[in-house]
Amino acid sequence: MQSFKVSVVVPAYNEEGNLSHLVDKLVPILSQYHDYEIILVNDGSSDKTVEVMKRLHHENSRVHYVSFSRNFGHQYALKAGLDVATGDCVISMDADLQHPPRLILQLIDGWQKGYDIVYTIRQDKGTESIFKRFSSGFFYKCFRVLTGLKMPAGAADFRLLDKKVVQVLKNMPEKALFLRGLIYWMGFKQFAISYQVEPRFSGRSSYSLKKMLALAVAGATSFSIKPLRLAIYLGFFIALMGCLFTAYVLYMKLFAGGVITGWASLMCVLLILGGCQLFVTGIIGEYIGRIFIEMKNRPSYIVDETSLEQK
Ligand code: UDP
Ligand code: MG
Repeated sequence: MQSFKVSVVVPAYNEEGNLSHLVDKLVPILSQYHDYEIILVNDGSSDKTVEVMKRLHHENSRVHYVSFSRNFGHQYALKAGLDVATGDCVISMDADLQHPPRLILQLIDGWQKGYDIVYTIRQDKGTESIFKRFSSGFFYKCFRVLTGLKMPAGAADFRLLDKKVVQVLKNMPEKALFLRGLIYWMGFKQFAISYQVEPRFSGRSSYSLKKMLALAVAGATSFSIKPLRLAIYLGFFIALMGCLFTAYVLYMKLFAGGVITGWASLMCVLLILGGCQLFVTGIIGEYIGRIFIEMKNRPSYIVDETSLEQK
């Protein structure tokens, strides 16, 4: 048996019904390796998730937990797990068994072949809702156009990272996290595996539309300033249209012998212009907000209790 340690990081928000089942599936797989640890991160759940985690830690000392003081979000729970993981490779996966544990063997296989990052691409044959599939497809397209990063559609937060990659991530100071993009952006030797997404074992998805939108905005704005450039193009285009329209009005007045009257057209121009201005101000505001948040330099998450020794 080769002597390396595998860490598995599992963010969990209201997953009381899934964790024992997940750990039961993980342990026989991970026991094939020299050493392992499972780090369960409780992201401020309101159910009995933390109690289940404590019990699992009690039953198996290789299972650890980190519990947040409140809900900080999936990306931060993942980051917290990566921050404390001590394995030679670190695998992150969801708690709801949508990421099949048996794939871990393939992930580790890829890593042993010399890849630093082995990520997975979700194949979905009707497990997820139409809305989720559509919104996800749309997001990946926008992300690629805005950032120029050719991140493949369906890249999931189910992946293996070599410890040197984890070290780089630990030292990243940024607060607005979109790990999928960040890891893709980092480079290293990457390898993709596709998998069929499983239905949730128990409970409901907690990725509401609001959370998905927040993640999409964080993803788009933390990787490029193209939205700001888009604002310039939009402003330029509208100003050009305004000039053309003015020329047309002048022509009508001077040569065609009449002024175009009309309250309706005036209102249209006013509303379109007003809308565009608000839109552009919103984009600028989003970036200023990000500077504000990064500048305060608050911790990305706060740990309430953990079974690991705190530094
Ligand atoms: N999750 C989390 N914090 C949150 C929301 C979700 O840690 O605020 C975890 C959740 O427990 C699960 C993973 O993130 O392990 C993916 O969440 P979910 O299954 O709800 O999303 P979906 O699979 O529907 O995209
Ligand atoms: Mg899920």
